[in-house]
Amino acid sequence: MSQSRPELSVEFFPPKNAQGEERLAECLQAFRSLGLAYASVTYGAGGSTQTRTLATVALLQKRGDFPAVPHLTCIGSTPEGIRELLRQYRELGIQKIVALRGDLPAGMDNPGAFRHAADLVAFIRDFGGFEVLASAYPEVHPQAENAVQDLHYLAVKVQAGVSGLITQYCYNPDAILQLRDALARLGVTVPLTVGVMPISNYEQIARFSAQCGAEIPRYLRLGMEALAQDPAGQRELAADLVARQCALLLREGLPGLHFYTLNQAEATLAITQRLGI
Ligand SMILES: Cc1cc2nc3c(=O)[nH]c(=O)nc-3n(C[C@H](O)[C@H](O)[C@H](O)COP(=O)(O)OP(=O)(O)OC[C@H]3O[C@@H](n4cnc5c(N)ncnc54)[C@H](O)[C@@H]3O)c2cc1C
Repeated sequence: MSQSRPELSVEFFPPKNAQGEERLAECLQAFRSLGLAYASVTYGAGGSTQTRTLATVALLQKRGDFPAVPHLTCIGSTPEGIRELLRQYRELGIQKIVALRGDLPAGMDNPGAFRHAADLVAFIRDFGGFEVLASAYPEVHPQAENAVQDLHYLAVKVQAGVSGLITQYCYNPDAILQLRDALARLGVTVPLTVGVMPISNYEQIARFSAQCGAEIPRYLRLGMEALAQDPAGQRELAADLVARQCALLLREGLPGLHFYTLNQAEATLAITQRLGI
C-alpha cells in the first residue's frame, strides 16, 4: 500500500421512499468510523432526481458526518436551471461538485446548451466557489469515437477546470494504471481516484456492466456463475477479488478509493476490512 492512508469516499443515490431513507441512514451509521473524505450523491439523467438529490445533500450536510458532494449532469439542462441549483448548493455550504454530462433520457431529444461534461465544468468554474471533480473511463467511454479521442477529450475536460478525476468502476487494474500513465504523458497531473463497485448482487452488476461498458473478466464471471446457488460464497469471492485489486492500485500509488455503494454498507465494508482500513 502507498505510504499515506488512501483517501476514501462513497457514493449514494437519493432514496425514493421511507424504506430507502432508512437504508441510507444505516449506511451513514455504518460508515461513520471510516474517516470518509466525502459522500457524493448521484443526480438523475435530465434532472429527474433534482429535488431528491438536493434533499439528500442537505441531509448529509446537516448531519455533518462527512461533507456532501453533489453530482450534477448537464445534458438536456438549461444554464438558468444549473445556475439556480449552484446557488442552492452554495447556500448549503457545498464545496465540491462532480460534473458530468449524463445521458439524455429516452423521449428527450434536445441536448440543450451543454453537449459535454467539459461545458459544465467551465460553467461551474465561471460561477465560482466550487472545486470540480469529473469522470474518467479506464476501459474507454462506450460512446467514444476511439480510445485516443476519449483520452484527448478527458485532458480537455481537465483543462476546463477539473481538480480530480474519479474512474468508472473497472475490474481490470491494468486499465486504470494504463490511464494514469497516459494522462501523465499528456501532463495531466490531477489525482485519479479509483471508482470501486463492490459486488453484493452479481446478476445486477453483470447487467449494469453490459450497459456501461465495464468488462467482467472471464475468471470473475466463471467464478460467480459457479457459485450461482451460493450468494454468500459469491460475496466472499467478490470481496476478496475486488480488495486485492484495490490493494494493488494503492501499492501503485493511486491516491484514493471511491465506493459506488448502491446504498448498501456490507459489500463496501467487506473490502475496507480486507484492506485493513
Ligand atoms: C464517477 C461517475 C459518476 C457518475 N455519476 C452520474 C450521475 O450522478 N448521474 C448520471 O446520470 N450519470 C452519472 N454517471 C454516468 C455518466 O453520466 C455517463 O457515463 C455519461 O455517458 C458520460 O458522462 P461524462 O461526464 O463522463 O461525459 P463526457 O466527459 O462529456 O464524455 C462523454 C463522451 O463524449 C466524448 N466527448 C467529450 N468531449 C467531446 C467533444 N468535445 N467532442 C466530441 N466528443 C466528446 C467522450 O470521449 C465520451 O465518449 C457517472 C459516471 C462516473 C464515472
